[in-house]
Amino acid sequence: MSFQVFGIPVSRGVAIGRAVLVASSRMDVAHYYIQAADAETEIKRVLRARDEVAIELETLKNELPADAPHELAALLDVHLMLMHDDALIGATTQWIIDRHYNAEWALSAQLEVLARQFDEMEDDYLRERKADLEQVVERILGALARQQGKLTSDAASIVQRDFAGEDPLLLVAADIAPADMMQFKRSIFQGFITDIGGKTSHTAIVARSMDIPAVVGTREASRLIRQDDWVIIDGDAGAVIVNPSPIMLEEYRFRQRQSELERARLTRLRHTPAVTLDGERIELHANIEMPNDAEAAVKAGATGVGLFRSEFLFMNRGSELPSEEEQFLAYKTAVEAMAGMPVTIRTVDVGADKPLDRMSASELRHEHVLNPAMGLRAIRWSLAEPSMFRKQLRAIYRASAFGKVRLLIPMVAHLSEVRMILESLKKVQQQLNDAGHAYTKVEVGVMIEIPAAAMMLPLLLKHIDFVSIGTNDLIQYTLAIDRADEAVAHLYDPWHPAVLQLLALVISQTKLAGKSVSVCGEMAGDPAFTDLLLSMGLRSFSMHPSQIPSVKQRVLRVDATKLAAHLPGVLASEDPQQEAGRVFASQRVPVR
Ligand code: PEP
Ligand code: MG
Repeated sequence: MSFQVFGIPVSRGVAIGRAVLVASSRMDVAHYYIQAADAETEIKRVLRARDEVAIELETLKNELPADAPHELAALLDVHLMLMHDDALIGATTQWIIDRHYNAEWALSAQLEVLARQFDEMEDDYLRERKADLEQVVERILGALARQQGKLTSDAASIVQRDFAGEDPLLLVAADIAPADMMQFKRSIFQGFITDIGGKTSHTAIVARSMDIPAVVGTREASRLIRQDDWVIIDGDAGAVIVNPSPIMLEEYRFRQRQSELERARLTRLRHTPAVTLDGERIELHANIEMPNDAEAAVKAGATGVGLFRSEFLFMNRGSELPSEEEQFLAYKTAVEAMAGMPVTIRTVDVGADKPLDRMSASELRHEHVLNPAMGLRAIRWSLAEPSMFRKQLRAIYRASAFGKVRLLIPMVAHLSEVRMILESLKKVQQQLNDAGHAYTKVEVGVMIEIPAAAMMLPLLLKHIDFVSIGTNDLIQYTLAIDRADEAVAHLYDPWHPAVLQLLALVISQTKLAGKSVSVCGEMAGDPAFTDLLLSMGLRSFSMHPSQIPSVKQRVLRVDATKLAAHLPGVLASEDPQQEAGRVFASQRVPVR
């Protein structure tokens, strides 16, 4: 039966494929296609892993002390029974034969199918057996991983193998942690659907950086969509169409082709300088998460990196953080790839919806820190961990010997924080001098993400070289709306008059002080805001590489001076979005 689910559109375009349901605890299971000829080998792997675990359990059972509770032996019997049930192993081999899934994926796909059947059971006792099934599958997955010579399955093996001729796949999950999203950057998935999340949650941001359609905050997609269903993601409207009719499919295939053509047309702007009709040169920089993303930035025509979210180097590593050397090499890779163009490295911004380990927003919300967005996040965490912080600062400074590096500090709210940072920088430079490491001048900037920092900007400007406005957080903290919470996503409003006042204030004050200002939040990459930001005097934008062409197209079509004349009217309006739409649209010259 065909039906639709609605959510928040976070990454544009249309994707059509089969649903792959993945539980958040199993995000790191390897997903790849095998060759049809290898199906038998893959099935043997499953059977061998199953047999190994069965022997383990039999041994455990036989070695139970005589006084062990009777329930323990009964539980082991249940596990043994589940593991030999055809509904688990028989169906798993079917996924391998029919869909060419690798063993781990086939097993976890079948677990999702069975887990749902357990959830729907009326009988409490039977429903609770789901936990047993999960334990059994975990054990078999563990045995499969050991076969590969590893203790756990390696998420890095979620690689894009040759899947020509296979059905495209769309990931459906209750929630995905930003750390897990990074694993999917190289995956076979061509779209994402989650129950949780808002437009600027970090999961959404990573989806956008992958430039594949995504819809978040659907609330119940992962419950309604079944493993292997055909699904359409309409990333522009935020709609998910499940089991579409042939007519729907045809219509969306047409739209998919249209949007591919439009993208191809826009990429032709890659080498065109971003200059407005009145000759204002606009810097279009890239936001990156990993050093290798710099390649995509150059390809898209970025004139620098405006935001390197360094925290992604710190994720998925258990308790071990990246060493100074490892960080230095990562920053150097990005700096060299940008070949003399500026690279703005933001010091680690963990906390809030970006925990170090693979915890999703919903897990964080329900189990851990009370109010993570207002907690020990970003620069607050760095200052609380001085040795970690100095390691990162040394690595950043050392990378400056290979190109133009700028240092950006997230979440500044107090002048005392800036003072402490500058002290640390002095110390770090001394350490580098003593160790004989080369470095050059590094400009130091702060992110304006907290209204308090915007209100006291003149004081901050005396101590720093540049400003970057993080609109994602600035909106969250100005409007008191958790950016990752779909329940209040409708109130997350970049057009709110208070947000616009703050933006205009920060841009004008920074320029007045003769320092450079850019916007690196999601507003910068959304063409709906390009005219507005230009009218405020912004000349530097930082966004995902894939967004550069459409923002550039906007820049090429307007006269910045004429736009500026309309700003007071927009700021004074009770409905700035409508007013901006009206006055700015009339200024735009048609696409050539
Ligand atoms: C922002 O807050 O706008 C920003 C760019 O930083 P992040 O999205 O990583 O919090
Ligand atoms: Mg931020």
